[in-house]
Amino acid sequence: MAKIGILYIATGRYITFWNEFYKRCEKFFCNDHQKQYFLFTDANNVSVKNNVKIIQHKYLGWPEETLMRFDTFLKVENDLQKMDYIYFFNANLYPVRKIKGEEVFPSFEQQIMVTLHPAFYNMPRKIFTYENNEKSSAYVPFPLGEYYVCGGFNGGIAEYYLKLINDLDKAVKNDLKNGIIAVWHDESHLNRYILDRNPLILSAKYVIPEVIGFNQKNLKSLKPKMILIDKMSPICGGHDYMRGLTDKRIKNNFINRFKWWLHKKRTNKKNG
Ligand code: UDP
Repeated sequence: MAKIGILYIATGRYITFWNEFYKRCEKFFCNDHQKQYFLFTDANNVSVKNNVKIIQHKYLGWPEETLMRFDTFLKVENDLQKMDYIYFFNANLYPVRKIKGEEVFPSFEQQIMVTLHPAFYNMPRKIFTYENNEKSSAYVPFPLGEYYVCGGFNGGIAEYYLKLINDLDKAVKNDLKNGIIAVWHDESHLNRYILDRNPLILSAKYVIPEVIGFNQKNLKSLKPKMILIDKMSPICGGHDYMRGLTDKRIKNNFINRFKWWLHKKRTNKKNG
């Protein structure tokens, strides 16, 4: 039985995803192993079970909350050293089918695990959105890079994932010192990091969007293991609302919920 550390950031409005995530992660993710959750949040009224450690964390806003995630994780570095494996989940990612350890544990040669980005799954290199500023630590020069991975689900053997956290924390801070924020924040740095490595690469079925807007032809054959809840739904209120960039939300009324249901049904049906 392995000890698995689960890193989960939910500040501002993202805390709304926590309860459902926890319930589903307990039900579907690595059930033969022992899970220890690390919940980084600024919410002060969350009640949690024994296997959840709450780390009070000042809300950084967007994109800093996601960009500075490596610095955030280092707050529990000592706890993480006691784990066998460590995984980060985006707050809006919900497991929907059983995921066994063997699926997500990298070998000692692979060291870390990454997941193909659903928007670029089976797409050509020329459309990958790598960082193209050569002054950035996340720069990936053409034609390097075989696949584009997402920031939303990754992890690995604790020792190596902790190295990734430390290395990428330095890379992000080095960019900031030079007035640079990579185009897709933490995700750009992760994509640069794996260029010189040989990680376990999971298919995009671990990060299937709730409504498949992009790349429908390549995603339709995949049976989802996890779903990315769409922040544009009336239940969430919109990307900018969730990220705290506006107080104006998509109204969660009957008409909007119906329109959303229709849109989701039509789009996903088109996808098969
Ligand atoms: N996040 C958060 N609060 C925020 C913004 C982001 O907790 O206000 C965290 C959360 O874990 C989220 C991750 O940062 O899943 C990535 O945020 P982003 O909005 O960039 O999500 P994406 O667009 O990748 O779905």
